[in-house]
Amino acid sequence: MSTEVTKPPCALCGQSVEIKGFALDTPTKQLPFCCAGCLSIYQLLNGDQKTDAIQPDDPIKPPNKEVY
Ligand SMILES: [Zn+2]
Repeated sequence: MSTEVTKPPCALCGQSVEIKGFALDTPTKQLPFCCAGCLSIYQLLNGDQKTDAIQPDDPIKPPNKEVY
């Protein structure tokens, strides 16, 4: 058996992940990322999959109706 651990590709850019620690836990699996940038971009693209990042539910201000 080889002692080398297979490096998973970054879930965003596909580069081999050299440093562990930028993984994102999803309800289905853990996605590896090569850097914090890819991780944050992926989170931006995929919205709120991670329940850690619960944002305050700001009430959306309705746009002022322009009355003519
Ligand atoms: Zn990457």
